[in-house]
Amino acid sequence: MASILDLRKKYLGAADATDEDMRIVQAVREYVDKEIMPRRQDLDGGWHRNEELARKTFEKVHQGLVDIGVQKAIWPESLGGLNVSSLAFEMVIEEISRGDAGLATHIGIVNWTMLPAHLGGRTDLLQEFIPKICDDKPHGCCMAITEPSGGTNTEDPTQHGRTIQTIASLEGDEWVINGHKIWPSGASIADITYCVVCTTDPGLGDDGVALIYVPPEAKGMSFSTPFQKMGMCWTDTNTEIFFDNVRVPKKNRVAGPGRDNKILHDIVGFGRIGTCGFALGAAQACFEIVLDWTKNREIAGRPVRNRSLHAYILGEMAQKIESARAYSMQTYKMVRQSKLYGKPGESFLLSKCSAAKEYNCEVSIWVANKAMELMGSYGYAFEYNVEKYLRDIKILQLWLGGPQRALLDTALGYYSFEW
Ligand SMILES: Cc1cc2nc3c(=O)[nH]c(=O)nc-3n(C[C@H](O)[C@H](O)[C@H](O)COP(=O)(O)OP(=O)(O)OC[C@H]3O[C@@H](n4cnc5c(N)ncnc54)[C@H](O)[C@@H]3O)c2cc1C
Repeated sequence: MASILDLRKKYLGAADATDEDMRIVQAVREYVDKEIMPRRQDLDGGWHRNEELARKTFEKVHQGLVDIGVQKAIWPESLGGLNVSSLAFEMVIEEISRGDAGLATHIGIVNWTMLPAHLGGRTDLLQEFIPKICDDKPHGCCMAITEPSGGTNTEDPTQHGRTIQTIASLEGDEWVINGHKIWPSGASIADITYCVVCTTDPGLGDDGVALIYVPPEAKGMSFSTPFQKMGMCWTDTNTEIFFDNVRVPKKNRVAGPGRDNKILHDIVGFGRIGTCGFALGAAQACFEIVLDWTKNREIAGRPVRNRSLHAYILGEMAQKIESARAYSMQTYKMVRQSKLYGKPGESFLLSKCSAAKEYNCEVSIWVANKAMELMGSYGYAFEYNVEKYLRDIKILQLWLGGPQRALLDTALGYYSFEW
């Protein structure tokens, strides 16, 4: 069982986190070890992808994490939350992802969807949503950015929102939304709200970008059936979303001309740095599996991990995980100091968040792949879980613009260019 001291040693960058913060990280770690680790494959519906098994398992462990306080962790006590720091929440996300990155995605999206309201200083909207999120029942939210014509273009800061094709028109006191989104996590199952990235006029560039909160029951919003995917098979639900004259109150728009017109890029920056915890948790789990396996598996009378070739690879795994974690923690701390470093959507921090995401995803995929190699066919087998981690983590690298966009945005922190 990991103590708070063990967890402080693991998350070196968190030496200054409070004991209160670390207690929730510890509680989540214990819950994951006891309740999620034995059910990892059930979250996928087992070998036969049984939907009922997957859904029941998801409901059980989701509720378990909500009971610990994960869903309300970061919100202020005045709105029903626990006031846990966002740095500690990054550790919580890593610990959940050690069990299942898709489950962590579902939980992480709730906070991510609240960010535009938070960044825009929209207390009225937060007061509408947060008490529901803090009510001890499991919930879901959805942040709809990607469109069929491309996700990366929307996230590209040099496109200034001009490629967005979901149009919001003001009619009296209402926004009328028409358009088509694709892939967002939580689509069709979100019960709190949808944050939809629209434009009032693509020609206005950043000033036209409108992030609009749409209630789940809004008339005119409909969904395709969920996509069938390589990983996160049931834990993350992704569909198309169709907007056909969807009407919402004017006040539901966050981001607009002037001060707030870069919130979309802040969301991308936060999403990228937030992805690191998912990647690290999965990498850590694969490392633990392979450490154990190579201790017990013998080649010519000696444990595999006592052979220098294998010890070297295990050492390299540890080095990459530690450096990725240190990098993401450092970037996270910078994100929390906006007076010094600016906002995560501005080129300096977007560069750091994007580089950290790309590096953490690369490390995670490398570690899972090497773990499989060291375990031979057992690593490839369903029973030993590494194959599931490998399937789940590939999307971390692809979402929010893919590794190419992430590194282009990294370069943009050092010099300007458009294409
Ligand atoms: C499980 C899952 C969860 C998701 N969750 C969400 C979510 O919560 N919200 C949401 O809005 N979307 C979500 N998505 C969608 C995802 O973010 C997008 O698919 C992703 O951003 C890439 O967009 P695209 O698929 O349209 O690919 P494209 O934009 O067509 O990009 C394809 C490739 O081209 C590269 N590329 C693109 N532009 C450039 C360029 N300028 N220069 C060089 N290379 C470039 C990219 O790196 C990528 O490799 C999710 C998808 C999945 C599968």
